[in-house]
Amino acid sequence: MECVLVELESVCKEKMQQAIETEEGLGIEYDEDVVCDVCRSPEGEDGNEMVFCDKCNVCVHQACYGILKVPQGNWLCRTCALGVQPKCLLCPKRGGALKPTRSGTKWVHVSCALWIPEVRLK
Ligand SMILES: [Zn+2]
Ligand SMILES: [Zn+2]
Ligand SMILES: [Zn+2]
Repeated sequence: MECVLVELESVCKEKMQQAIETEEGLGIEYDEDVVCDVCRSPEGEDGNEMVFCDKCNVCVHQACYGILKVPQGNWLCRTCALGVQPKCLLCPKRGGALKPTRSGTKWVHVSCALWIPEVRLK
């Protein structure tokens, strides 16, 4: 009896694994924890879709990150598009939705910049 249970369990796990792999293969994300890195809201709307960076998987609203038009194919956040991994000027957190400041040499999280009116983003 125990043996059967164990077997069932492992089949179940395999199926789940498969499902996860297929989902990833299609590039579709069904992660319930996904929220916009800027406003922390999980909901997108018409004309303000959630956009995922194809490389670092950061998730932002079009409006929050200032994406005028969502590209048909893959979208890359600014840092991935430039191939850089800058540190935020305002916090120690790595990764996330970063944007260059006006000078173009310093980077900050869009979410961090929201609290500092003096920080102007490009
Ligand atoms: Zn947002
Ligand atoms: Zn990215
Ligand atoms: Zn930051």
